[in-house]
Formats: sequence, C-alpha cells, structure tokens
Amino acid sequence: MLTPKPTLYQLEGGIQHYAWGHRGAIPQMLGIGNPHDQPHAEYWMGAHADMPSLLIDPSNSLSMRLDEAIGKSPETLLGKAVCSELGNRLPFLFKVLAAAQPLSIQVHPSKDQARQGYAAEMAQGRNLDPATRLFSDDNHKPEIIIALEPFYGLCGFRPWQDIKEAFLKIPQWAILLDELGDDSASTRKLYERVMRLEDLQLESMLAPAIEQLRRLHNQSPFKPSDPAFWFLRASDCLPAEHPWDRGLFSVFMLNLICLQPGESIFIPSGILHAYLQGVGMELMANSNNVLRGGLTPKHMDVDALLKHIDYQSTQTHFIKPSQSTSTNPWSCYAVPAREFECQHLNTQALPVDLDIQSQGPEIWFMNQDQGEASQLSLAGQSPIDMRQGQAVFISAGTRLGARIAAGVSLYRALVPLST
Ligand SMILES: [Zn+2]
Repeated sequence: MLTPKPTLYQLEGGIQHYAWGHRGAIPQMLGIGNPHDQPHAEYWMGAHADMPSLLIDPSNSLSMRLDEAIGKSPETLLGKAVCSELGNRLPFLFKVLAAAQPLSIQVHPSKDQARQGYAAEMAQGRNLDPATRLFSDDNHKPEIIIALEPFYGLCGFRPWQDIKEAFLKIPQWAILLDELGDDSASTRKLYERVMRLEDLQLESMLAPAIEQLRRLHNQSPFKPSDPAFWFLRASDCLPAEHPWDRGLFSVFMLNLICLQPGESIFIPSGILHAYLQGVGMELMANSNNVLRGGLTPKHMDVDALLKHIDYQSTQTHFIKPSQSTSTNPWSCYAVPAREFECQHLNTQALPVDLDIQSQGPEIWFMNQDQGEASQLSLAGQSPIDMRQGQAVFISAGTRLGARIAAGVSLYRALVPLST
C-alpha cells in the first residue's frame, strides 16, 4: 500500500460519460480509444467522492485513491496551512470539459447555503435517493472555465431591455411581459414566471417559437453569435419525450459568451449559467452541488433553484491571465476564491526549466505536447516522463525540478497561499 509523503505522484483521473459529452476530444487528448463511441464529457482530477482519482507512486508503482490518501495523512499531502485554513480535504477539483451539446442551465449554492442544504437533506434521509437529492456535499462551487478552443456559454442575466426586446419578437411570448414593469425587479419576475408555467402552457409557447425561428433559420441561417442559433440547437438536443423544456426561455435571458482559446470566465455562486459547446479546462472548489434550471430531463426543484439565484450581478467575470515573464514562465488566472488558482505554461520553440517548491497540493495536467516527453524530477531520484494527457499530483512541501519540452501546454491547479 502506498505511503503518503511529500513527493511527486502520477495521477490517474476518471471519465464522466454524461450524454452531452463530445465523443472525440477527451479520448484524443488522453490518447485512449473510444471503441463504444461513448460521449466523454469530463475528465476529473481530484478527490471528490463521486469520482476520486488514483495516486501512483512512480518509485514503486504502488497506488491509492487520492481521497483515501488524504484521509490517511492530510497534513503530509495538503500541508498545514491548507488543512488549518480549508480543512482536511483537497480544496479543488480539476477537469477537462468537452461539450458537444448544451449542458443543463444551473446555479451553484454559496457555502452557507450548501452547508445548510446538505445538512437538511442528510437529516431527512434524502441522500438515499440520488435522483431527487440537490446537495451531494456541503461545499460551494465557484468555478473557472478556460477555453482550449472557441467555447460558447450562457452566463448571468442580460440587461432587462435586451431580454424584453428578445421576448417581444416572439408573438406568443409577449403575454409573459404583462404587468412586469421596467425596473430592476422585472428580470426576476419574468424568470419566476417562466419557471412556474404549467406544462401545457409550455407547449403552446415553445412550439410556435421553435417553428418561427426554424423558418427564419431556413431562410437565412443564424450565426453562433445569435441566441436564436443556440435556442434551436438546445431544442434539437432535447430528448423526444421531453421537448418542451422551460430552460429554452433562458437562452434569450442570459448573456451569450464566446471565449477564444486562453480566455476564461469565473462563475461565483448564484449566477445562472450553462455551457453550450466547446472544450476547456475547468477548475472549481471541490463540490458537485448543482441546482438545475432546465435543458435537462433530470430532476429540477424550481423552488430551491429560485432561492439560490443572484439577480443583482449582471457583469460577467472575465478573468484575464497575467503575462508570463522571463523570471516566471507561468501565466496566472487569479480568481476571487480561496480554494484554487489556475496557472498555464505554454512553451514555445525551446524547453523551459522549472524549479518548484510547492506550498500546498498541486495537480498538473498536460493537454498538449509535440511528441517529446517532459521530465519531472525530485532531488536524488531518477526523473519521470510526462506526456500529453498525463497528470501528476504534487504534495505540499515538495521540491521539484522539471524540464518542460518545447511546444507543450501545461495547466497547473494549486491553492493560492500568501506565504
Ligand atoms: Zn457550473
């Protein structure tokens, strides 16, 4: 059995085959096949109980689940500072996300809301029925997504006038605007109204809208920069037995975002969002707490959802990475979260040598190389190779040397510590 120590481990993540996943992007990145042509939605690197990664000691090939290793020796792997500040668990969860179809519209709870919600469900014994459970843990889930290719998403409410204009273009929807007024509460009132429509009303409002927009699309195709494009795409992706999904209204109510490679957004608690299409690196607090708002046949608790939405902040949190310099080759995506920070190293024509002293736990993932292995080494030990699709876990207090080959893209998840 593996003994946790301050060192460098190979890390083997797990794949989530959610239905919206892309079939090729993750298998290609990881260099694995996809013989059953399954969707590969997310590659998880972390210690979340829903899919913990495996730690492998390269010196003797012994392995252990990361969550178990942390449970056994939290201070050895996470460091004293992280344990005392954030508890005895890995503070973050690192993922590759590859969406071929829109994901469910969702919002994540704040820490207090998650703690209360999880405790209440545990007390009710609702943890026994995963289909209706809302809280899978007691943590919040701020997250950052960094695009690896053009990446489309919906994030936060649009200004009221834009929402109103979009709804007025569809004759059957104008009635939804009745008596809403034009003040700051209008967005909330409209959102609550569409989320509480009767099922029969949904069909009578959505069917003509789909028909109308389909007709316009056939005359002159909508571009992906137009919400109507995603309204039709989302409608096409709904299962035949669940065609009238109230989440479709949200496509016209939320800001449509297109991130270019390297661009990113941060999503705090309370912000309604959905990823529509693309491949990206995602880093978040270690949680799987999601309250859904449609574009999914999965369980939805509208009352709970409405309680968790923040209607005030309409600004999208774009995170601009710091530039790498001659003394620091990493560019840094600093976010307003204590649990994580993402860094990126893009070597150009020449390899880059690194000398790292980890303060807390780190996970590195190489999403791209040019066929040449990079080498990571601890003092007095033979180096290990790192290639595209591979990940490593670095315990707190590890001194590490690395030669990162030319033409590599390497992402690094760590806990921002002041010392
Ligand atoms: Zn999310």
